[in-house]
Amino acid sequence: MMPQRTCPFCKKTTTNSCEHLALAVEGRDFVRSCVEKCHAERPWQSYCARSREQQRLGGDWCPEYEDFTWLETAFCDAFLKQLTWFGSLDYEWRSGPKDREGGFWVLLWSKDPRRLWWELRDEIERRLSRLERTVAPRL
Ligand SMILES: [Zn+2]
Repeated sequence: MMPQRTCPFCKKTTTNSCEHLALAVEGRDFVRSCVEKCHAERPWQSYCARSREQQRLGGDWCPEYEDFTWLETAFCDAFLKQLTWFGSLDYEWRSGPKDREGGFWVLLWSKDPRRLWWELRDEIERRLSRLERTVAPRL
């Protein structure tokens, strides 16, 4: 059993959830949950499709490049860390309904989660439009 995590801003434990805990989900749901939280499903899908297309055209296919679409650490490096309202990422062991179904949950801290989500949505849209400019249709 890992000790309870504490909020980096107000030092409350995760059992007394405070307003700084933007997200607490299982690792495999992290990226999808972030995208849903900021209502960026459509630009996100386009972004992922475009970046796959770009790799295909560029011919330098690299499996690691895809990781940000599902791996929380890669997503964090690629999208979250540069945001003004990003606080930190942490992990907490949580047991499921049955003990053996427990797993690591990802905790996302922010001084103001609402602003973090707005910022993330802007960031995804900005990246998408940048990608749309670079991936020009080849004639
Ligand atoms: Zn807090």
